[in-house]
Amino acid sequence: MQTESSEDKERLSSIIQSSQDAIISKEFDGTITSWNTAAERIFGYTAAEAIGQNISFLIPDELLPEEKDIIAKVKGGGVIEHYETIRKTKNGERISISLTVSGIKDGKGNIVGVSKIARDITFEKQAEEKQAILAAIVNSSDDAIISKTLDGIITSWNYAAQKMFGYTNAEAIGRHISLIIPPERIQEETVIINNIRSGNRIDHFDTVRVSKSGQKINISLTVSPVKNNSGKIIGASKIARDVTQRIEADRKQQLYTEKLQELNKYKDEFMAMASHELKTPVTVIKANLQIVQQLLQGNRNLDFINKTLKQIDKLSDFITNLLDISKIQVGKLQLNPSRFDLNILLKEITDNIQQTTSTHTIILAEAGKQLFAYADKDRLDQVIINLLTNAIKYSPNAKDIFVDACKNNGQIIVSIKDNGIGIPQEDIGNIFYRFYRVGGLAATFAGSGIGLYISAEIIKQHGGKIWAESKIGEGSVFYFSIPASE
Ligand code: ADP
Repeated sequence: MQTESSEDKERLSSIIQSSQDAIISKEFDGTITSWNTAAERIFGYTAAEAIGQNISFLIPDELLPEEKDIIAKVKGGGVIEHYETIRKTKNGERISISLTVSGIKDGKGNIVGVSKIARDITFEKQAEEKQAILAAIVNSSDDAIISKTLDGIITSWNYAAQKMFGYTNAEAIGRHISLIIPPERIQEETVIINNIRSGNRIDHFDTVRVSKSGQKINISLTVSPVKNNSGKIIGASKIARDVTQRIEADRKQQLYTEKLQELNKYKDEFMAMASHELKTPVTVIKANLQIVQQLLQGNRNLDFINKTLKQIDKLSDFITNLLDISKIQVGKLQLNPSRFDLNILLKEITDNIQQTTSTHTIILAEAGKQLFAYADKDRLDQVIINLLTNAIKYSPNAKDIFVDACKNNGQIIVSIKDNGIGIPQEDIGNIFYRFYRVGGLAATFAGSGIGLYISAEIIKQHGGKIWAESKIGEGSVFYFSIPASE
């Protein structure tokens, strides 16, 4: 038998020490007999710590039976190659290793021990897992995800791409991307590739592609450069989302909007025409009734005429409001401004309204200094009457209405406060819209949702603001402000 020279042994030992893989030998009972530098690095134990110990300290508890099987196989002359398993390091970390295990023979060829080569494959395993996760994401995506070379050759094609464009993997991979580009859009590809070559990404580009059956598909395309490990751009990845439904929904929405605008126009035209046509006969009826009223003074039937006149007044107010709306619609609500003291106007209006109500008391705050405004007196009259009549109407169980006016920062601010039913918070932002009426209790009061809209338009035209503060069940305060005049 040939014996190894000490030179051979040294060479062998230096090969073992310089190996990147852990090389360990042990006896059948598991006692470690040698431990190279790579074993120190991979498992964290020095040779002094490991040699003489039982190999079981490297093996997770649940894998201890596996070690017995390995030893039995090697004892029987077998070899285990590239067996992937888990081991523990000194700091308790679990690492993935690939094991090759074989028997150590003595001079007579008897197997007397076991040698193990362990390669740390944790990194490869993690990379493999990441790859598998990415592949699962790509395949489960509803968007078509396609990669291609800089020459436009398709290199990957996910499940959604198969569904969207109708080509299988085998039919698409290796083909040029023009497979799905309609001929009239082929120049898009040059633009896309030029962008990709310069490292640019294309985001949500709306375009059209074509399926295997020739059907045009509206897609939103995002294309990004694919780089290799050294950062060189080697291709492009495309994400295509089918936006056919969104485009169809947008088209329908546009159609409905146009239709609605058209109908709205008809409605406005009809309202303008109807209110205009009603105005004259109502004015004539009112004038004639007033004559009859005069003639019937002292007659017991006068009451019928008075009641009819009251209803005619309501009708006439309503028609005036409709006419105002029509004027606002066509931008013809014109102001005739003059300079006057708003305190005096407030006094006149509150006195007049007080005459019409026996249930409420209107309390006008002590007028301080004069509050001059340059405004349309009749239109402001209209706003204040509207706010006051609302305050009375919507506070059936309260008595007092407070009216105040003051000057602040060049603005005159008027407030009208009631202790009535109040307005829910979610409605406050809407009450100045045309025809908006609050539901629930408020809806039991007669009204048309026009007054605040017209008031808001009048105040807006004066360069002012109108707003409300309210608490349900406690009451409301309506404010408006207009520029003060010196
Ligand atoms: P109308 O009173 O004819 O319905 P308005 O445009 O004057 O129309 O008012 C719009 C809505 O605002 C009313 O329907 C009512 O619900 C609410 N509102 C207006 N003023 C008050 C108030 N002082 N208190 C409570 N709710 C009010």
